Amino acid sequence: MSESAADVVICGGGVLGAGLAYELAERGARPLLIESRAIASGASGKAAGLLSPASDARAVGPLGSLWRASLARHHELAEELVGLGAPGYGFEESPSLLIAADVAEARTLRQAAPAQWLEPDEVRARCAWIDGPIEGGLLREASAAIDPAAFTQALIHASKARGARVEHGRVTGLSLNGRSIAGVQVDGRIVPANSVVLAMGPWTSAAGEWIGCRVPVTPLKGQILRLRLPPAQAETRFSDMDGNYMARKSDGLVYVGTTEERVGFDEAPTDAARRQILRQAGRFVSAVSQAEVVKQTACLRPLSPDGLPILGAAPGLSGAFIATGHGRAGLLLAPGSAAALAAHITGESPAVDLTPFDPARFG
Ligand SMILES: Cc1cc2nc3c(=O)[nH]c(=O)nc-3n(C[C@H](O)[C@H](O)[C@H](O)COP(=O)(O)OP(=O)(O)OC[C@H]3O[C@@H](n4cnc5c(N)ncnc54)[C@H](O)[C@@H]3O)c2cc1C
Repeated sequence: MSESAADVVICGGGVLGAGLAYELAERGARPLLIESRAIASGASGKAAGLLSPASDARAVGPLGSLWRASLARHHELAEELVGLGAPGYGFEESPSLLIAADVAEARTLRQAAPAQWLEPDEVRARCAWIDGPIEGGLLREASAAIDPAAFTQALIHASKARGARVEHGRVTGLSLNGRSIAGVQVDGRIVPANSVVLAMGPWTSAAGEWIGCRVPVTPLKGQILRLRLPPAQAETRFSDMDGNYMARKSDGLVYVGTTEERVGFDEAPTDAARRQILRQAGRFVSAVSQAEVVKQTACLRPLSPDGLPILGAAPGLSGAFIATGHGRAGLLLAPGSAAALAAHITGESPAVDLTPFDPARFG
């Protein structure tokens, strides 16, 4: 590993770390990203990769502007990354459905967005998979999808084209000069650095000891089945109001999920989750019971106590920053988060107000 001081060392090669490497390199900083396993080996490689518009509650809450900025940045990146020679990552703009399973859900959705409401027959005309009882659904035009692993790799490719470096290694602590960052401990060595960003997904909690403040991010396990299903006449991807979904992805397989399991750092797929996912999806789509399960994946979402990202300067330490806590929407929120934090680190004014995401809010 090179001993020359990087401007910024990024710890973690998930979508947040990769996005930061790209946005920092774009701004002329010399980032060095360090990943202990493999790029996109966590949730950033195994997520569903659905980019849905913010629900009404989210659109007006503190996440709203970050959500909109991120979706807009996704559209820009779709051209920018390919222009830098990165391989495609299945970016696809197409509507999605949010379905109501019962009368109460239908009332909620109709009130929230009357213009987007579809009756059950209209929903089925757009998604022929659905043959179970539903009360209707919302058509969300501004939706998109990506292949998460390929997207993260594309960001890495483009950031290297802009001068970023990527190294394999396990970060175990920081090196401080008083209350300022001097370097990062990697596999028993010190890698000199002027700044550090802790973007290790749910594992970022361990860094609390290094920086002397709580990073209350916890793992929320989720599992997905990839099914082989014959093509249907119409296949608009859909989710239900419990956050379960079904979508054909760019590899031709239909992704069905998911679970929310509080089981620590266990990343192993389980039979119980497989049964649960098939049961959930089977309420709406009878064909899943006959489908071949080609692959089952499990990974960990980085969850913060208030459901908001933890994004900004670590309190009381000059040169240390945190980027985690994006929960169920990290693929969607990564481009806006990375652009805003990179701007903050390099002394620009971020396009999104980072105040609601300040790591200091946890004391
Ligand atoms: C089942 C499931 C489905 C999902 N679907 C969607 C979706 O459709 N849309 C969406 O927007 N989001 C989705 N998400 C959420 C999204 O995947 C996450 O929010 C996002 O990937 C988190 O990215 P990250 O970079 O913060 O963390 P991670 O992807 O976990 O990356 C952290 C990286 O840090 C590395 N690391 C850890 N410790 C160290 C260390 N000490 N030294 C060096 N490296 C280290 C890890 O190996 C890992 O590669 C889903 C999540 C799950 C579980």
